[in-house]
Amino acid sequence: MRHAICLTIALLTAATSAHADEKDYIAYSQPTIAFVHASVVDGTGAKVRRDQTLVVDKGRIVALGDAKRVKIPTDAQQIDAHGKTLLPGFVMMHEHLFYPTGHRAYTEMVYSFPRLYLAGGTTTMRTAGTMMPYADLNLRREIDKGTVAGPDIDVTAPYLNGPGLPILGVNALGGVDDAERMVNYWADEGVTSYKAYMHIRRDELQRIIEVAHRRGHKVTAHLCSVTYREAIDLGIDNLEHGFFVASDFVKDKQADVCPGTVNSSLAALDIDSPEAKALIKHLVDHHVALTSTLTVFETFVPGRPKAPQAALDLLIPEIRAQYEKSWDGVQAKPNPEQVALFAKLGKLEKRFVEAGGLLMAGTDPTGYGGVVPGYSGKRQIELLVENGFRFEDAIRISTLNGAKFLGRDKDVGTLEVGKRADIVVVDGDPLQQTSAIENMPLVFKNGVGYKTEAIFAAMKNTVGLN
Ligand SMILES: [Zn+2]
Repeated sequence: MRHAICLTIALLTAATSAHADEKDYIAYSQPTIAFVHASVVDGTGAKVRRDQTLVVDKGRIVALGDAKRVKIPTDAQQIDAHGKTLLPGFVMMHEHLFYPTGHRAYTEMVYSFPRLYLAGGTTTMRTAGTMMPYADLNLRREIDKGTVAGPDIDVTAPYLNGPGLPILGVNALGGVDDAERMVNYWADEGVTSYKAYMHIRRDELQRIIEVAHRRGHKVTAHLCSVTYREAIDLGIDNLEHGFFVASDFVKDKQADVCPGTVNSSLAALDIDSPEAKALIKHLVDHHVALTSTLTVFETFVPGRPKAPQAALDLLIPEIRAQYEKSWDGVQAKPNPEQVALFAKLGKLEKRFVEAGGLLMAGTDPTGYGGVVPGYSGKRQIELLVENGFRFEDAIRISTLNGAKFLGRDKDVGTLEVGKRADIVVVDGDPLQQTSAIENMPLVFKNGVGYKTEAIFAAMKNTVGLN
């Protein structure tokens, strides 16, 4: 009995202090806020506009235009935005609430990740697969209630995979009826998205798509055993990882089997070949969106930058050491195939957009680590620009495109009158130098402004633990 009471008190204390934390992160919560003299990249792909005033009232954008013309309400809290650039809150489509912690463990970061995603500019996200679905669902609820600071979450069901994956947290489906049972079960529990994985069979994928669509939900996949073309023909909505996991170009590929030669087949692919063009056309014709996750692939390419020190400071020492060791290992081994793939497949994502395809952005904090929420979203945008996208288009890919896919573009995804005040404040001009995006002192969600440095400081030495 005494033990039970102590436990209750301990839980209550934990809950109260967590609540106090959230208040400590808030810089602005006035009902009316006006940013004056800001540069604005609105998320539609339109060119940056200079010297703008943006007015927020009760969580909504109520005015946006030339500073000379827009009237500032007398009761507004003014923010001098000279030298600052406003972007829409990011809508990131391949996120996870878990992080690789070694020995096949993927640990749910219930405490740090929602807050870090928000501090990195992400105000809406999809979890592209989960290890701990109830934690994701409960976090979504708490964020919606306002007791936890974090992005809106489109929660994906646990991975839908066949046998063959050596990850203990992932179930192996036993056929089409089992697939249907899983989809219905998780829909009943409240998930709104599904992700099929590398060892799924065509018949299972077909059933997953049918049942999910019947429930009004969308399906994405990280494929291998099924080709992109097969999945498109089955009616899939979205494919993950750009073209990095397309098994379409493997010679003599066996149906429903994940071949070990995807990388070498892609290394041999000419991105201007009729085969590559035909796959792009098939995707576009069937309105299948692609999610770019250059951030996670970068970690496997020698010669690419290491995760920034501030991101590494978020990791607990053991996890930081694991990352450093793996990163050193990647640097030590020349890997021309990986170098070539990274350059080439980034360009292929650009061709997909030029052909009319819907490209979205995600960061995928998996691999061996180093893709750290709070930093990874900014890095993904830098990598899109590196692959030839205008900054304004990289922002559209990372905001409006995801909102469109989620059917939420009337509410979020751009800086426009009537939309929710989800606003990223960059100190500097990322049009001149993309890396200016790394200076992001404030992130607004629902009209509430969060001090990102306060969140980062509070989250030091947490990632890897909770
Ligand atoms: Zn992933």
